[in-house]
Amino acid sequence: MPELRTLDNNMSNSSIDDTILAVAESDWLKVALVIVDAARAGGSGLLDNDQGYQAIGKRIEVLVREGRLIAQGNLKKPRYSEVRLPGPLLTKPASGCARQLRMLSGIKCIWAREHNKGANDVPTWTDLRPYLGRKPRCPQGGTYTLGRVEDPPKCSHGG
Ligand SMILES: [Zn+2]
Repeated sequence: MPELRTLDNNMSNSSIDDTILAVAESDWLKVALVIVDAARAGGSGLLDNDQGYQAIGKRIEVLVREGRLIAQGNLKKPRYSEVRLPGPLLTKPASGCARQLRMLSGIKCIWAREHNKGANDVPTWTDLRPYLGRKPRCPQGGTYTLGRVEDPPKCSHGG
């Protein structure tokens, strides 16, 4: 499996750990979203495949065992578990809209992977409900447009 070899050669466990800790926040994020974000942040598509996702998922479990991340839920089910950085629980209301857009972007990506959708497919809110729970609201009153998988989601207030 060439991808796995590439992964081993270029991405050590410690650099995967650093990437995970860089995308994790002081507030709870779904594990599935952390995995997608870390895969993207890993750069040049190295981790952005199923083996990469599995490697990141395993490292998240290790980081939780080592106390470098805090978890709630079953980590084997990335959609139903969450992680955050240790320390006080901090939410960031000031960046609320940007944060929601980032989450929506990650969730579109997860939906596309799990349903074999391509760059031009457009998810509906109903499609994403299993991942989102409640529909996110812009703190500034904007309306979110999901758009194509390939495009970032948009907020009508310009966020
Ligand atoms: Zn907004």
